[in-house]
Amino acid sequence: MTTTSRSVDVVIVGAGLAGLSAADQLTQQGHDVLVLEGRERVGGRIHTTSVAGVPVDAGATWVAPDHTAMHALIDRLGGSTVPQFHDGKGLISFGGRRRAESALALAPWVVLDLARITGKLQRIVDHLPTVDAYKHPRVEEYDAVSLGDWLTKQHALKDTRRFVDMISKVHWGAPAGDISLFNALRYFKTLGGLEHMMSVEGGDQQDRIAGTVHTLVERFAETLGPRVIVDAPVRKITTHGTTVTVETDSLTVDARYVIVTAAPAHRSAITFEPALPEQHRGLSRTWRLGALSKAFVAYDRPFWRDSGLSGEAVSDDDTVFLTFDVSSGLDRPGILMVFCDPRGFDSYDRGERSERVLAHLVHLYGSEALRITDYEDFAWGNDTFAPGGPNPAVAPRAWTTFGRFLRQPVGHVHWAGTETADETSGTMNGAVLSGHRAATDVAALLAVTSEPSAPSVSAC
Ligand SMILES: Cc1cc2nc3c(=O)[nH]c(=O)nc-3n(C[C@H](O)[C@H](O)[C@H](O)COP(=O)(O)OP(=O)(O)OC[C@H]3O[C@@H](n4cnc5c(N)ncnc54)[C@H](O)[C@@H]3O)c2cc1C
Repeated sequence: MTTTSRSVDVVIVGAGLAGLSAADQLTQQGHDVLVLEGRERVGGRIHTTSVAGVPVDAGATWVAPDHTAMHALIDRLGGSTVPQFHDGKGLISFGGRRRAESALALAPWVVLDLARITGKLQRIVDHLPTVDAYKHPRVEEYDAVSLGDWLTKQHALKDTRRFVDMISKVHWGAPAGDISLFNALRYFKTLGGLEHMMSVEGGDQQDRIAGTVHTLVERFAETLGPRVIVDAPVRKITTHGTTVTVETDSLTVDARYVIVTAAPAHRSAITFEPALPEQHRGLSRTWRLGALSKAFVAYDRPFWRDSGLSGEAVSDDDTVFLTFDVSSGLDRPGILMVFCDPRGFDSYDRGERSERVLAHLVHLYGSEALRITDYEDFAWGNDTFAPGGPNPAVAPRAWTTFGRFLRQPVGHVHWAGTETADETSGTMNGAVLSGHRAATDVAALLAVTSEPSAPSVSAC
């Protein structure tokens, strides 16, 4: 295979929102950048599939009102948001019992217990610093146990544990027993607290992006033109004194700096020469990405609304643990977005996956749930390149041992990605902020060395 050589100021690894945001900022400042993306598409954990001819978000979906970096991007690219449908009663189905008595749909004693547990968590969260939360004096204690262990110590009721497990699966792609308590606390902090994180109105689930997030990200990438190259997995990054060489299968790029935006677990797929220090390798080993799957089920119309249901449901079923109504603007077709637990989903064939989903939708919404017009699904854990999502399932002690190295540069290698953000980490907004932070850091370093280099291309 012919290898092409190029020279730029900064190579950015990954064309998710972090990488595109870093490239955008550096380009606007007059630097020559190149974004290398391993997948055949841009967007990373943002991806579109379609059901009944309607494009839907297989990955990231919602934007909170205070996600200002995302709103600025949406405005700039001529996008708009639509409110998440939220009218009517929610459903809860724990232990096979389906309830729809109130908006929360939980038994009164569970409501009290959940309030006790979330109140306790929130009080700890209130005392964590937003920036570098791992410097909190009690970090060792919080990082030594899992969120699940902590719930046991608090004598949380079974339904409270099921509810927290749902939160854990949707945010970290793993049950609460797998997640460090400190990781959960730090995450709640960066998202503005538990209530904000769980709410639709005024919270993290308030709005969707009209026409899907991926369309917006594609438009963003287009503004960078040929500076974004897809289907170019970075295999090796070599540092020689004050420059770096970044290699894909068909391209060798010399640069003054590289910004790697791959999730910590995926950094390990790149060979670094010299090898990264052990702390960085440990980070990649221990910050595994969780797994999450989504199914989309289309109906002629959103029939659940006729019974006063919002289409929001929380469940402890082996397959389905959360549903939302993402019907298109005209309410036709009706579409349920179904969050599926990969353990009860990913290994089945498509026929069995849809049967499992529909069986639970019948339990939740009645036999009309069988009258589907279309079905689609997407399993992030089955992706061949950079599998997993939405966020790292950080196990106990992994934060205190390795967390501080998340964004610590190694020579001319810098790091971005939503995980490295202090504010709104784990979201698209955090990804944009992390890209801007890394671009600012690198631009400052470029400014003290020399003028931006002229781009050059040659084939060897
Ligand atoms: C199912 C799901 C639901 C979500 N829901 C929401 C939501 O509702 N709201 C919200 O704000 N966020 C949500 N998120 C999280 C959100 O998608 C992420 O926080 C954000 O998109 C991360 O952007 P990023 O650029 O940091 O990382 P990524 O999007 O992961 O981008 C990193 C890129 O690096 C590439 N890469 C990795 N290794 C290499 C390599 N060696 N060479 C070249 N390229 C490489 C990857 O292919 C990827 O494109 C969700 C995520 C998932 C998966």
